[in-house]
Amino acid sequence: MSFVFDPAKPVSLPVAGTDKQFPVRRIYCIGKNYAEHVREMGGDVERSEPVFFTKAAETIVHTGTEIPFPPHTENLHYEVELVVAMGPHGVFGYGVGIDLTRRDIQATAKQTGGPWDRAKSFSKSAPCSKITPADKVDLSNAHIVLRKNGDIVQSSSLDKMIWSVSEIIERLAADMDLQAGDLIFTGTPEGVGPVIPGDELSGGVEGLEPIRVRIT
Ligand code: MN
Repeated sequence: MSFVFDPAKPVSLPVAGTDKQFPVRRIYCIGKNYAEHVREMGGDVERSEPVFFTKAAETIVHTGTEIPFPPHTENLHYEVELVVAMGPHGVFGYGVGIDLTRRDIQATAKQTGGPWDRAKSFSKSAPCSKITPADKVDLSNAHIVLRKNGDIVQSSSLDKMIWSVSEIIERLAADMDLQAGDLIFTGTPEGVGPVIPGDELSGGVEGLEPIRVRIT
């Protein structure tokens, strides 16, 4: 096949403990999947349901990367999340992601009923750790944490998710064309907050590789 210009290189994430890469296909994200986070955003936990949105695969950044502060926002937020990496036969593995969000743009989109893409799917908005194969880790009740400049700002456990990993996969598979290479950001616990240039973010889930990035 001959292209009129060079196609983009495939996006991938390193697989922990190997020299292989996980090829990223699409990024699905879940919003409103922890009750305390729904509350801090002003939502009604009784009436709220988790929601789906997407980020472009090209928004992935690897651990250790410096991220330039994005344009057109005065309120960039961190959201630490468990990431599920789908393989050809179900879940391949798990990682830790940070769903960077231009919160002011999202607030306007919520008011106007507009799409979330500019709030969620801007350049370098999806830092993600190495992927740990699913058979190497037990995530039941695992702790999830985000540190900003060394201080813990988000702290919860995966059993607080409203939709569990298996429920998310069941719903996505029924509704979308879930495929090997797809990543699923499973939602963030409470404690989301702002990031400014110079801040270092470090996200962790017990048993998984951490994600560390600096905003410049
Ligand atoms: Mn999120």
